[in-house]
Amino acid sequence: MNTVVDTALIQALDREHFLHPFTDFKDLATRGARVITKAENIYVWDSEGHKILDAMSGLWCVNVGYGREELASAAYRQMMLLSYYNSFFQTTNVPAVQLAAKLAALAPEVGGRSFRHVFYSSSGSESNDSNVRMVRRYWDLLGQPQRKVIISRNNAYHGSTMAGASLGGMSGMHAQGDLPIPNITHIEQPYFYELGQPGESSAEFGLRAARWLEEKIIETGPDKVAAFIAEPVQGAGGVIIAPDSYWPEIQRIVDKYGILLISDEVICAFGRLGYWFAYEKFGYRPDLVTFAKGVTSGYIPLGGVMVGDRVATVLIEQGGEFNHGYTYSGHPVACAVALANLELMEKENLPGRVRDDIGPYLARRFTELGEHPLVGLAETCGFMAGLVLVRNKATQEAFKPELGVGMLCRSHCFRLGLIMRAVGDRMIIAPPLVMTHDQIDEMIALIRRCLDATLADLQAAGHLD
Ligand SMILES: *Cc1c(COP(=O)(O)O)cnc(C)c1O
Repeated sequence: MNTVVDTALIQALDREHFLHPFTDFKDLATRGARVITKAENIYVWDSEGHKILDAMSGLWCVNVGYGREELASAAYRQMMLLSYYNSFFQTTNVPAVQLAAKLAALAPEVGGRSFRHVFYSSSGSESNDSNVRMVRRYWDLLGQPQRKVIISRNNAYHGSTMAGASLGGMSGMHAQGDLPIPNITHIEQPYFYELGQPGESSAEFGLRAARWLEEKIIETGPDKVAAFIAEPVQGAGGVIIAPDSYWPEIQRIVDKYGILLISDEVICAFGRLGYWFAYEKFGYRPDLVTFAKGVTSGYIPLGGVMVGDRVATVLIEQGGEFNHGYTYSGHPVACAVALANLELMEKENLPGRVRDDIGPYLARRFTELGEHPLVGLAETCGFMAGLVLVRNKATQEAFKPELGVGMLCRSHCFRLGLIMRAVGDRMIIAPPLVMTHDQIDEMIALIRRCLDATLADLQAAGHLD
């Protein structure tokens, strides 16, 4: 395959015509975008021939690694057989049906509740829009139309459509576009490192953080609250891992007030935390589960909602048209690729590998980075990990935000051949689930070099004592 690219030409056309997502257009125009031209396994290459270890799986999605023939040929075969047909007007297609049945079989039953139905979209954002529509329809059908409020968390990420961005707790996103839309409200995130009080254990903090939900329900009026939505581990927020005590208390609270629980597993499902679905790891019982990203390992867009029996039964038995859906709901090619992806994950036992093998190995190697003079905390959950860059380890003193220490570290990563993401001064990874132990070692060595280079810069500039 021809991968020789005229970098300057592509960058010029990019600047002329392509408005990138989440990008300062003016700033990018002065630099020129990095052109990625090919990828294999856990590595990507840019147009200058640099090989880069992609510790972010693209955007948290390439779970089976790049360049898998099984997925490409599934797409090819399905395109030749039935490239598209819609699932409106009482029609269906074989891959969409097979995938729905497969997902239902993979989703574990919890507390007597099972997931037997799937509603399809093409992305995580759309899926969360569907959640809002479905949750409101559910309460309408139950004769409680006043239950409209959905509670979410600060620093959550639930996508970038109007509803997705509203459910999310990103202040920068809310500031552009008069968000959140009405009837969406937020509580504080369960981030112990930042919000824990002196002398408080992480278990105590987890309970306190969960009770912010109860306080918000009472403040809002329990009869007005429709649902609580949360990521099992907050991804884009910086890999924020709640203490173990958090989820059982959340479950107690949503049960007590009868509100729906939405688990946004767009990142956390499909092996990322060592299970097909993340609620299984934490043992809570969601009514709706958002998925996207890893369902196709990012090879083609697909998203959806696993609809638990509690909601599905009401939507189905009460009858009446649900006035919502997408042209690409149940797209046959996307569903065929998802099926091939899940089969590959099963064959290679990727969730089990993360749970029993590479997850624990990553935990051991990654937490060693906690000894680095710049690192205040290094933690993992399954195959996600984050570390905090601090000015003073002992006091947890942070760097001034305007120094942009996370971005400095990230630029060293790119230079040294590693993709790591910076969220403020939290450096995060979510590598492909096919990584070997040797590749984990290679990645940890690269991270260490990036931390050393960042440290050297900060010392040279006099930002450390
Ligand atoms: C990425 C993400 C989304 C949005 O998915 P898109 O496919 O980008 O619309 C929603 N929720 C979570 C938790 C995500 O990580």
